[in-house]
Amino acid sequence: MGHAVLKMDQSQILKMKAFYKSHLLDKNAPGSLFVAKSGSTTITAYKSGKVLFQGKTAEAEAAKWGTVQATAKGRSKKSRSVSGHNNAPPKNISELAIIGSDEVGTGDYFGPITVAAVFCGPQEKEMFTQIGVRDSKALTDPQIVRMAKTLISHDVIYSLLTLNNEKYNDLQAKGFSQGKMKGILHNQAIGHVISKLEDQQKGYDGILIDQFAMPNVYYSYIKDEKQQIKDRVYFQTKAESYHLSVAAASIIARYAFLNEMDQLSDTISMRLPKGAGSNVDAAAAKVIRDHGEKALYSLAKVHFANTKKAKRLRGQTP
Ligand code: MG
Repeated sequence: MGHAVLKMDQSQILKMKAFYKSHLLDKNAPGSLFVAKSGSTTITAYKSGKVLFQGKTAEAEAAKWGTVQATAKGRSKKSRSVSGHNNAPPKNISELAIIGSDEVGTGDYFGPITVAAVFCGPQEKEMFTQIGVRDSKALTDPQIVRMAKTLISHDVIYSLLTLNNEKYNDLQAKGFSQGKMKGILHNQAIGHVISKLEDQQKGYDGILIDQFAMPNVYYSYIKDEKQQIKDRVYFQTKAESYHLSVAAASIIARYAFLNEMDQLSDTISMRLPKGAGSNVDAAAAKVIRDHGEKALYSLAKVHFANTKKAKRLRGQTP
């Protein structure tokens, strides 16, 4: 999850509050002036003048208002690069042979988390460019399916991991944060690709992770893993626009997510919606009505607020 902090004066905070007025939440964190949720980002403004942005697009949201000061605890006094850490990719990254990784499904109530890692050297780069690989967010679902099928059938070296909902909910109940689950999956998928490359005696120049946590946080997530990949690992937000390996990984991960959503939908004979909005609450309420609350455990990330909202909806509609 992204994280950014700004220091603002009172008049700026009032301006922000007005800007987010249709997104204000009625909950108030201790010492806060307002809490708002814009898209996937939560904005908390404190009386001290600190404004905290949390969520997938935290940095971009914060950048609308000023220069981001700090992105994680433990920052050093010396100035840092724009990324806020020292593991940013080298400038010539697009020319290098890279293993890229990305995940899908973390913000979706229904469905699993899927993580893919893909190797992209000079040959693959040509092929990926030819078939039109780019940021999966800019592609329609049918385009993603078509591209992913082509990628998978072309001897592309990749690894795809799916964390199903039951396993996810078990881990969550054991105290795993979603970040930790993601970290472990990225590390494993990258490890698989490295072994495949070794089998084929192919080399690579580095690894690029679509950044979801600061590097030190990421490494804390994987600290208990047998194999911890740390050599030439670069972190970059929106990494799919820095290297085609990450763009391809996001396409394969999204394809797998879409497939899983189709299968889950089939098992209960209803179309499960993506995301975590009010249509998702309604769908979850319908699942509870038709199959009981337990059914959600194998379909959804049950710790999301949608579960509570769905139960509340059930209370309202007998
Ligand atoms: Mg990502």
